[in-house]
Amino acid sequence: MHIAIIGAGVSGLLTALELVEQGCSVTIFDQQQAGHAASWAGGGILSPMYPWRYPREVNHLAQYGKQLYQQWNEKLLPETEIDFEIHETGMLIFDEADFEIGLNYKDQYQDPMQHCEYLEREALEQVNPHISEQFQHAIYFPQLANVRNPRLLKSLISYLKQHPKVQVLENTWIEKFNLQNNQIQSIQTSSGQHFEADQFVITTGAWSNCWSEQLQLSIPVEPVQGQMLLFKTPENWLPTMCMNNVMYLIPRMDGHVVCGSSMNHLGFDQRPSVQTQQNIYKACTEMVPELANFPIVKQWAGLRPSSPTGIPYIGQMPEIENLWANFGHYRNGLCMGPASAQLLRQLMLKQETLVDATAYSTQRLQPS
Ligand SMILES: Cc1cc2nc3c(=O)[nH]c(=O)nc-3n(C[C@H](O)[C@H](O)[C@H](O)COP(=O)(O)OP(=O)(O)OC[C@H]3O[C@@H](n4cnc5c(N)ncnc54)[C@H](O)[C@@H]3O)c2cc1C
Repeated sequence: MHIAIIGAGVSGLLTALELVEQGCSVTIFDQQQAGHAASWAGGGILSPMYPWRYPREVNHLAQYGKQLYQQWNEKLLPETEIDFEIHETGMLIFDEADFEIGLNYKDQYQDPMQHCEYLEREALEQVNPHISEQFQHAIYFPQLANVRNPRLLKSLISYLKQHPKVQVLENTWIEKFNLQNNQIQSIQTSSGQHFEADQFVITTGAWSNCWSEQLQLSIPVEPVQGQMLLFKTPENWLPTMCMNNVMYLIPRMDGHVVCGSSMNHLGFDQRPSVQTQQNIYKACTEMVPELANFPIVKQWAGLRPSSPTGIPYIGQMPEIENLWANFGHYRNGLCMGPASAQLLRQLMLKQETLVDATAYSTQRLQPS
């Protein structure tokens, strides 16, 4: 079976990997360089922030993120020589209003990864000696990890480009579907080229609404800008991820610390702004004041594919037999990525699914 995948972010690349491993051949298209949109810009926390604030369906897919990334890293590393570093730092949360629900969350939802402990100042200092004295206590999730997402993408792209059954076509904007009797015959690029396949997959992230008109569906996915800044500290300097007021710090193994993030509805604008960068800087140095001693080495913005509930659309698109969806992951596309791709592959190949697929169905999309 030959499959065309439109969009080479984490959703498209992991979908390609899942399908190729089952013997399918795949062509992946991206309007720009592969792996350079939201999936590159994100932080890579392998859990929704404050999971209790998200629908169960989001947590259900996210639960598999760490374990599946570990498996993929082991498989891909010998071929690509790129370790995408699943960094099990644990996470400290300082929002007092969330302490009780955080402490009970694991038992309430049987999610062992969300095991949580309450720490007084002394214990907190042992876990992370750099936390500001204004925080006298925290809740601590020792098993939470982050993935180094730019390396994850590099690894996926490198593996797929070497694979004999994969073609990656970059700088290729797919403009439309050529439809006949509820079947897509081919897709057409902005320069008029046609590509045929047996099945087609939309993994177009924040751009997914562009298909609304042609498919006569209301696709409620829109870009929500998130900005980040990056400090460089000594290797392994900050031992844990930290979170307060929806702002976070994510340490990488080599001493980089990713800080974010903002939420702005600005269309497709991807420019960082001075004001937002200052807000992020302030929030992060409030948690860890010593960060102010280290250089900021990068600032950027990315576009999250927001959807009304944050539950992605995964499965066959309405009315068209050979068109599939895997988009709308909003703030959690990196942690939900591996399970979302696996679920879609299982649906496409009529295999048993790892979770009940009903809640992710595209039947939620209304005719326009
Ligand atoms: C600042 C920030 C922080 C984040 N932090 C986290 C986090 O810590 N943990 C987490 O789980 N998630 C996080 N996210 C969310 C996560 O990054 C996204 O949910 C995820 O990357 C979406 O992946 P995607 O592949 O669906 O979209 P994208 O990565 O945006 O990929 C879509 C691709 O489709 C291509 N495309 C679109 N339309 C077309 C077309 N017509 N033709 C050809 N190509 C097309 C685009 O060029 C793009 O490359 C964060 C996001 C941001 C912005």
